[in-house]
Amino acid sequence: MLVGRIAGIPIRIDWSWILVFALFVMMLSQATGPFGAIAPSERVGVAAVTVLLLFVCVLLHETSHALVARIYGIPTRDITLFAFGGVSHMETTGVTPGQQAQIAAAGPLASFAIGAVSAVVAELVPWGTFAQVAAYLGVVNVALGIFNLLPSYPLDGGRVLHALVWKIRGDRGRATAFMSSFSSVVGALLMGAAVLLFFMGNFFGGIWIALIAWFVMSAARSEFAAELLAGPLSHTSSADVMDESGETLGPDQTCAEALAMLLRVRRRVAAVTQDGMLVGLVSMSDFAKLHDRAPETTRVFEIMTPYESIASVSPATSALDAFRRLAAAGHAQLPVVDSSRCLRGFITRETVIRVLKFTQERQRVRVG
Ligand SMILES: [Zn+2]
Repeated sequence: MLVGRIAGIPIRIDWSWILVFALFVMMLSQATGPFGAIAPSERVGVAAVTVLLLFVCVLLHETSHALVARIYGIPTRDITLFAFGGVSHMETTGVTPGQQAQIAAAGPLASFAIGAVSAVVAELVPWGTFAQVAAYLGVVNVALGIFNLLPSYPLDGGRVLHALVWKIRGDRGRATAFMSSFSSVVGALLMGAAVLLFFMGNFFGGIWIALIAWFVMSAARSEFAAELLAGPLSHTSSADVMDESGETLGPDQTCAEALAMLLRVRRRVAAVTQDGMLVGLVSMSDFAKLHDRAPETTRVFEIMTPYESIASVSPATSALDAFRRLAAAGHAQLPVVDSSRCLRGFITRETVIRVLKFTQERQRVRVG
């Protein structure tokens, strides 16, 4: 859900944030909460304003990442606020380790700065509702800064450490692999701390730390899967990974012949070519277009999906782009067609699975 723009960057709110907003207002308006000293009739209002201000603080944290990125000419697609905080979606290709470290460090620095300003405000104004809100925001922003500095991917501290290892080893992929293991260790340590707190009787603290540990571990895993695979796949061309085109059909062959051929070679789809040029595809689902026409007398060109309505990629398209397009198009296969409209091969879901498995195996060998 788009809520506005800061410096031209779209700001979105994930629906989970609204639920968290309500939960936080409820928590903060409890008599045992930080605003227990305020009259109960005013507490909900104060809590709501505080949570909204917190939302602004998280936004400032994210915006500071985006603004430092902008200095280096790296665009930010959007900023999304979700249950635990925010994410800035920015381009990561063409970033140097130094730039990555500075972009990552900007967020926690912004949080610490906001925390410091809030603390000063809380000291300066006479103790009242306003001072209490300022004091609370001070504590929370410092906590936010510390949380984000945890040396675990994809948190800011993890990104700084990743940049450091990258700089030392001189290889982004190796740094990513290192951070993968390191983040699991941090997650496990946090989980241990959570269990310890739990047994010491601090249930709330225990659950809180366990949630953070869970977040760190699951986020790290998904970020890495994407990072580890995206690297090699963006350097591989479609021609390198595609499956061969297999037997082709002529547009004037009958549908009965086409079906017999597909069944014989056990394929879901066959290319229809004329004078070496791709003119269409016939897949199993195209036979539904026969209706009550006889397959023995109906020609392939009558039921095929014509070239004009097929999504295709060129042999030079990177495997990563081809896989993304295959997923986006929702088709089972994507023909690889060269500039003279000659079919070179197919990228299928099976290609994706095979290549991903191979890449993972290779990563494991490199890591070990
Ligand atoms: Zn951050």
